[in-house]
Amino acid sequence: MITKIFVDMDDVLNYFTMSALRYIGCDVEPWNYGAYNPVWGWNILHASQELKCGKSFMDYDDFWKRFPRSFWASVPVSNMCYPLLELCDKYVGHDNVAILTRPTNFANCYAGKFDWIERHIPDRIKNCFIGGSKHLCANHESLLIDDNEENVNLFGDNGGHTILVPRPWNRNYIHFDSFGEVKKCLSYYVFKKGNQ
Ligand SMILES: [Mg+2]
Repeated sequence: MITKIFVDMDDVLNYFTMSALRYIGCDVEPWNYGAYNPVWGWNILHASQELKCGKSFMDYDDFWKRFPRSFWASVPVSNMCYPLLELCDKYVGHDNVAILTRPTNFANCYAGKFDWIERHIPDRIKNCFIGGSKHLCANHESLLIDDNEENVNLFGDNGGHTILVPRPWNRNYIHFDSFGEVKKCLSYYVFKKGNQ
């Protein structure tokens, strides 16, 4: 039975990746995932080169250090953010839904993510965890909703349940309606698997 749900923030509750690409100079819109070629996988450095952002980066730290706190705080809310959280609340109760988000190696990111949460979902501020090892929250009663295949695979390997949110960089991108697919999976877990 699923009793706790962990919800990823970037590219689930917000439009993170395309916003980051726009911030560093690519001509893309935050909500337009169609501009991201699935063959790139989740590799934002490669994507920034392919989308001709006009800058080059040595590595991920060189890339992420350019993002100020104000960027992290102002990433647009996704269209699934509020309905998804509402659905999770309905299934397991508000106090059993947590936000689980992986930061970069820079303090601006931690602070900006906190700002974002405070601005958009202040009623969840006590149930927000900022950390990279999401699989530490995995058990037979916990469910992770995330767009990152590595997170989802590790969570599953550690005994948790998972829903992979369709995005261009993952295997579920064949599902055009991201929220529709997540809703279907969530209902399956709560009403079918959860009752086994
Ligand atoms: Mg994510």
